[in-house]
Amino acid sequence: MKIGIIGGGMSGLIAARDLQSAGHTVEIIEKSRSVGGRLATRRMNDGQADHGAVYFTVRSDELKQEVKEWQAAGVVKEWFADPYPRYVGSNGMNKIGKYLAEGLDVRLNEKIETIAAKEGGIMLTGSEQLHYDAVIITAPIPQAAALLEGSPLNLTQEDQKLKEYIFEPAFVGLIELNENIQVGEYGLLDQDLPEGILKIVNNGEKGISNNPILSIYMTGEWSEKWFDREEAAMEEVVRLSVEQLGDLSIASKQLKRWRYAQAKQVFNAPYYQLEQHPVWLCGDAFLDPDDPSGHTRVESAYISGKKVAEQIIRFAQS
Ligand SMILES: Cc1cc2nc3c(=O)[nH]c(=O)nc-3n(C[C@H](O)[C@H](O)[C@H](O)COP(=O)(O)OP(=O)(O)OC[C@H]3O[C@@H](n4cnc5c(N)ncnc54)[C@H](O)[C@@H]3O)c2cc1C
Repeated sequence: MKIGIIGGGMSGLIAARDLQSAGHTVEIIEKSRSVGGRLATRRMNDGQADHGAVYFTVRSDELKQEVKEWQAAGVVKEWFADPYPRYVGSNGMNKIGKYLAEGLDVRLNEKIETIAAKEGGIMLTGSEQLHYDAVIITAPIPQAAALLEGSPLNLTQEDQKLKEYIFEPAFVGLIELNENIQVGEYGLLDQDLPEGILKIVNNGEKGISNNPILSIYMTGEWSEKWFDREEAAMEEVVRLSVEQLGDLSIASKQLKRWRYAQAKQVFNAPYYQLEQHPVWLCGDAFLDPDDPSGHTRVESAYISGKKVAEQIIRFAQS
């Protein structure tokens, strides 16, 4: 089969690799200029900072096995264990996406605007029309639901329930410092912080940056409150950071705003297929009902990508 995957984040990349290994022809269509999605790293002068996932943890045997390979390839490393290991991209989280995309067919800077049924298959329209036998949408559920709503597909009542899933936003302030400062034991503070701050990371101490750049992760509630006031939000992030860390000698600063950072409510299955079309949805918010953590994270995206690929392989054989 020829399969189109909308989105080159963790779930899309994993599904693509498994489907391609099973002999299918796979194309990833990604709207950004790089793969990785919320595995995101930004360059700032001589250094860089992660501004999506901070680290990932591993509970499942499948991911445990895979992480060993990624470690052997030098793509990930253990940051610290407390008591469970926290893994990070050795050279930034985004490099994990780049590594997983090796050998895959990826179209970058291509945003899919509509999905239509055409001659027994599916047609995606962005800057051109692309034809597939089956399609996987990996965008966060609210974005996937909006894409479906705006498309000429027959959506059943069950399909339309996807609109009910809500994600919360996140602001991440990036502050490049002129002088290094110690942030917690390992370059991470995630407790007893001023209201609004979820985590503070020093990317230098995390081992991914030549210069000290702080990533200040704000809570969902705070980010919702400040969502439309970006300039003021940056100032407030700095004020709260100084309240926690003392005076900072700031070289430069930037703000990253995620409209869809994590699901407020998860979907209780690892993927969903539209009732009348060969179109599947997967991603971090699609969790096994017995998922031990119950929240969206890198590992849930990984498992969802694996499971949707298994299902499509079975579908192709039937
Ligand atoms: C600020 C922040 C902090 C986080 N911290 C952690 C953490 O510490 N630990 C952890 O485990 N997880 C963390 N996460 C969550 C983790 O990053 C995600 O669970 C995981 O990366 C999601 O992968 P995904 O494939 O489901 O989705 P995504 O990575 O969002 O991938 C979806 C992709 O689809 C693309 N796309 C969307 N619409 C279209 C379209 N119409 N056309 C083409 N492409 C499209 C997007 O550009 C994106 O690349 C964090 C997330 C954020 C935002």
